[in-house]
Amino acid sequence: METTIEKPTVMIVGAGLGGLALGILLERAQIPYDIFERTSAIKPLGSALSIGPNLIPFLEQVMPIDDFFNVSKPMTDVRSYNEQRQFVFSSDFSPIEELTGYKQHIIARPVLYDLLLRQIPSNRVHLNKRVLDIGEKDDKVFLRTSDNGYYEGDILIGADGAYSAVRQRLYESLRQKGQIPKSDLEDLPFKCTCLVGQTEMLDQEEFPQLKEPICQFWSTLGENKPYSWVTFTTGRTICWMTIEHLSKQSTKAAEDERFRHTDNSEWGPISAKAMCDETRTFPIPGGNGSLTMGDLYDRTPKHLISKVMLEEKVFETWHSGRVALLGDGA
Ligand SMILES: Cc1cc2nc3c(=O)[nH]c(=O)nc-3n(C[C@H](O)[C@H](O)[C@H](O)COP(=O)(O)OP(=O)(O)OC[C@H]3O[C@@H](n4cnc5c(N)ncnc54)[C@H](O)[C@@H]3O)c2cc1C
Repeated sequence: METTIEKPTVMIVGAGLGGLALGILLERAQIPYDIFERTSAIKPLGSALSIGPNLIPFLEQVMPIDDFFNVSKPMTDVRSYNEQRQFVFSSDFSPIEELTGYKQHIIARPVLYDLLLRQIPSNRVHLNKRVLDIGEKDDKVFLRTSDNGYYEGDILIGADGAYSAVRQRLYESLRQKGQIPKSDLEDLPFKCTCLVGQTEMLDQEEFPQLKEPICQFWSTLGENKPYSWVTFTTGRTICWMTIEHLSKQSTKAAEDERFRHTDNSEWGPISAKAMCDETRTFPIPGGNGSLTMGDLYDRTPKHLISKVMLEEKVFETWHSGRVALLGDGA
């Protein structure tokens, strides 16, 4: 006798990298799903991501893999420089290929985001849907959005980033029942703040490193200052990242500033501008020998420069009932 198994309906909160990746898998498995995203438009933010043997097999299964190879560059080493633009040492990544059969690749975060988004029908992603509340009722899970929307499904996935609203709601209810370890209720620690961005298309004569088929991944360590800065070539652009390594005192100042800004994934243009101004004279190797981070900031659209924190925590509790957390949310 033929049995039919009803497929569950999945609600995903957050159309970030994690939410989209899950959406792609559900699309392939023909499991009904909807993605609820708080922003009104998808903003191509970030610098570059390093993708290797842990993720390329996933991409091979969900898209023509040349789409990925055509917009990323293989990376074989990371070269470190001092502030005099002198080469200091290099970390060799080539054993990764010997061990796994896959090269490590560098791709601009906005480009990877766009690749994933293209695998999902647009009617599955609902913008302007900030999730405020979740709960379970009569064998269903529900969510409420800031525009008074109410939605029900069988499984709810919180893929809504480091400051996940789903996690906060889930933990509130578990806390009332005494079912949550104390460590899960503590603040997210972070030791770095980071400016990230990607330039517009650059002139290859001014930035000859762009001509190299291998990603030029260069890192400079600040002297007597708590900063390091990194540039990566991808296609005709340079992705960059300036990292401030925080002390106890500066962590406190950063936390206070974060507290004043409610939109957690970025601190907005004013804060990013201040950090750009502080760090624009930082020297970078290559070119005519006088390039600085300021040359890259000036060639990056201002609204695509973001300031983010590198939070470091793994929560013990990542699921309960019909709700599970994914990605930075966990
Ligand atoms: C702006 C930014 C730039 C970054 N740049 C880099 C980089 O260059 N290189 C690198 O290696 N890593 C970078 N990271 C970190 C890396 O991208 C993250 O680890 C990764 O994006 C985590 O994916 P995620 O899907 O779990 O969360 P996110 O990518 O943070 O996505 C969460 C999504 O949920 C949405 N959301 C949040 N709250 C709600 C809510 N209540 N209701 C509905 N939707 C909600 C957010 O708008 C967002 O779209 C960056 C992170 C951010 C936020």
